[in-house]
Amino acid sequence: MQIQPSLIGFDIDGVIADTCEAFLRIAKQSYGINTYTQEDITEFNVTECLPIPEEIVDNIFDSLMKDPIETDLKPMPHAVHVLTKMAQKGPVTLITARPLRDPIKEWLKYILPKNTFQQTTLIAMGDHNGKAAYIKEQGLQFFIDDRAETCLSIQQEGITPYVFNQPWNEGKHNLQTVHNWHCIEAKLEL
Ligand SMILES: [Mg+2]
Repeated sequence: MQIQPSLIGFDIDGVIADTCEAFLRIAKQSYGINTYTQEDITEFNVTECLPIPEEIVDNIFDSLMKDPIETDLKPMPHAVHVLTKMAQKGPVTLITARPLRDPIKEWLKYILPKNTFQQTTLIAMGDHNGKAAYIKEQGLQFFIDDRAETCLSIQQEGITPYVFNQPWNEGKHNLQTVHNWHCIEAKLEL
């Protein structure tokens, strides 16, 4: 079964945006921390798995939240291509836990072709919990997220989640997964 693009929504960080790459790059460039790779981030809360001071972790995430363009946050490989194909068929819905909408809106405007951006609905919830209500409000039946806890909770609300495989969600769920944007593209009716 292929999914109608208008019925699926996406998380941004860890799915559309390669937030992990940016985190590790800033840790290295600004704080000289170069001991870790993506595989070492085995928990969604970085301080639970890496011995980096909480203040540094908070500072890095703060800059990624407030200035994703300046910090050179990059889209995941092939994501822009798939979102653009989806946008040619109808609206594209993105729901992020980020509390600030404007910076990530500007980032989307920066990375996406104009027509794709114009077809995009962006919701910034400001909370890691409670995504199901927003997903339902948008009339979506499927959602892709990298946080296992989010996927498990939206499944309980009758939404079909796909976990975007990342080291921090490995072994934390028994849900369907996608491991890259080629895999997402194959699931969509495009
Ligand atoms: Mg995420």
